[in-house]
Amino acid sequence: MTANKEKIWDNRGRAPFLLLALAAGVTAGCHGHTRQAATPPRAAPAAPAPPLDLTRVQPNEGGQVPILEYHNLTASGKVGGYEYPAAEFRRDMEWLYAHGYRPVSLADYAKGRIDVPAGLSPVILTFDDALVGQFRETAAGKVSPDCAVGILEDMHARHPDWPLRATFFVLTDQDPKMPKPFTVPHEAALPGQDGFAQEKMTHLVQDGFEIGDHTLHHHLGMRRMGDAQVEAEFAGGVAGIHRYLPGYDVQTLALPYGVFPRNKKTLVAGQSGGLSYRHLAALDAGWYPAPSPLSKTFKPYRIPRIIPGDEHTRPGSLNTIRYWLAYLETHPAEKFVSDGDPNTYTVTDSAASGLNEARLHEGGFQLRTYSGARLTARRVPDSGEAPQR
Ligand SMILES: [Zn+2]
Repeated sequence: MTANKEKIWDNRGRAPFLLLALAAGVTAGCHGHTRQAATPPRAAPAAPAPPLDLTRVQPNEGGQVPILEYHNLTASGKVGGYEYPAAEFRRDMEWLYAHGYRPVSLADYAKGRIDVPAGLSPVILTFDDALVGQFRETAAGKVSPDCAVGILEDMHARHPDWPLRATFFVLTDQDPKMPKPFTVPHEAALPGQDGFAQEKMTHLVQDGFEIGDHTLHHHLGMRRMGDAQVEAEFAGGVAGIHRYLPGYDVQTLALPYGVFPRNKKTLVAGQSGGLSYRHLAALDAGWYPAPSPLSKTFKPYRIPRIIPGDEHTRPGSLNTIRYWLAYLETHPAEKFVSDGDPNTYTVTDSAASGLNEARLHEGGFQLRTYSGARLTARRVPDSGEAPQR
């Protein structure tokens, strides 16, 4: 395996690894290429990648992806640990749009299917705890324009190429001691929203947003729990989602407070109370951008996020959303830039050694590398095959 890897990555450009060299922008028979909506079967031969104009777009699909972690949005100007002014959130979204980011689904990211136009960059939006500032309805049953859902729907209306993609890690009243989703005010002046919980959960899925597992009770002490209790927390989170969305395929998990259980296997799959769960990915809380999902450093069950923090009041604060977005602007070589095809990974010749060849192969992805204007389609090795001579 190691020998194979060295051969593949260190002998770049030498037969038999060089299948064909493509002149930039000139590829026969690719103009009818269509995106595959579903994940192709394992190692399925993918369609030829679409042409790429390297004078216009320099993809960097081994680069980093910011995953933003928001809690409550508020009307006030104060930034607290779990509160962020709605006006600042709106500003973040407009900044992202203007700087070439487009939201992608967390599940697609975890699968490595990043579907944004060539030259643009993915961003992932996440919201924890199902707080009312994320989704508030007016007395007339309309989405409030100042909650996260209202702001995202408005973004999409004004910028149709900004898709409705975000993941809501919800808490529910599966345990009746817990409040219903999107009813916790955190602001004394807000009226109760209890009557809208079902409507909101349905609305999110209809919009195309994703719902993720945030456990049953949001305990701080998950590290001290035995496996059975941990599985009860994860399965209970899924059961709570099914209370509102029967049969919904819950694919992702966010650990409350970023505290992980000791037994990492419980993150992947388990069962409790007759309900089994299977997560594709588990998210941490904080502190830096996430790697490319095909990077060797990508850990699907320990994906980092970044938080608003106090950048608002203390510009330059470390580990916050604005700090890291500014950092990626000044370090563009570290930022994920798409080639426009979710089934193909395109990186510079020198960045290829940072990609995980087993995941490339398992996902049926094509690989291309480039240097200057010279683009080369690479053979993705079967990780089980004998080393090449
Ligand atoms: Zn939480």
